[in-house]
Amino acid sequence: MLKRLDQRVALVTGAGRGIGAAIARRLATEGAALVLVDRDADALAALAQAMRADGQQALPVVADVTDRAQVEALMAQVNDACGGLDILVNNAGIIRDGLLAKLSDADWDQVLAVNLKGPFLCCQAALPLLRQRERSRIVNIASRAWLGNIGQANYAASKGGVVSLTRTLALELARYRINVNAVAPGLIDTPMTRAMPAAARERLLRMQPTGEMGTAEDIAAAVAFLAGPDARFITGQVLHVDGGKSCGLLAL
Ligand code: NDP
Repeated sequence: MLKRLDQRVALVTGAGRGIGAAIARRLATEGAALVLVDRDADALAALAQAMRADGQQALPVVADVTDRAQVEALMAQVNDACGGLDILVNNAGIIRDGLLAKLSDADWDQVLAVNLKGPFLCCQAALPLLRQRERSRIVNIASRAWLGNIGQANYAASKGGVVSLTRTLALELARYRINVNAVAPGLIDTPMTRAMPAAARERLLRMQPTGEMGTAEDIAAAVAFLAGPDARFITGQVLHVDGGKSCGLLAL
């Protein structure tokens, strides 16, 4: 039976674990051939092996998305191996939380480099490959925090930048029929949030309208929709997948 993403090549950054790994798995389940990108070679190799064992196509490539030379080499490798790219998912991201008075230059620069410059570099380097295919897609992983979050000035600013990048590229790339959308996750159970101090996690959980965390698979499902044929006429949008948290404050 034909699957929704058969014949499509998809690249996911930060695919070594968490949301990125779930997105890679989901897109592969829908029929896409996957390029898995991360800094963590061991995590990539393990995921690629598991996917191949399940009959899925997976090409692991170690690259740091903040490094132009590495990103350009990555896209050249994808071009040689796959002859183009249909779906680019900019997922790699980091947090370095702190209140304004305590944020260091390094905290600011690292978060902006990975979360915002990374998607810029990947979109730019992938553009010639995306243009080789029909109706390609870019899906950027933002965050509900782009609306504002105490202790995350750097992170929120980076994700607000991702939203603006998404909307602008949607306009610029519409002429090539490349749709550009963002998914803004709320609190999701991944290694990133498991590494937070327990008190911070509890506070965030109390602010969840649904009272629960989301799963990486919840985000992967939204990405699969935006990457698939049903989203043909959707571009420049931000899909919040956050259990309702972006709707406003809860009366506690
Ligand atoms: P994780 O920290 O669990 O995974 C992120 C992955 O990205 C890691 O494998 C990490 O590798 C990789 N990575 C980090 N920096 C780079 C880089 N420069 N180049 C290549 N790979 C890199 O994060 P999540 O899965 O939780 O988050 C995924 C995305 O979802 C991020 O953009 C995050 O901001 C966003 N998000 C997550 C939420 C959550 O609640 N979890 C909520 C809202 C948004 P390494 O081990 O080397 O760092």
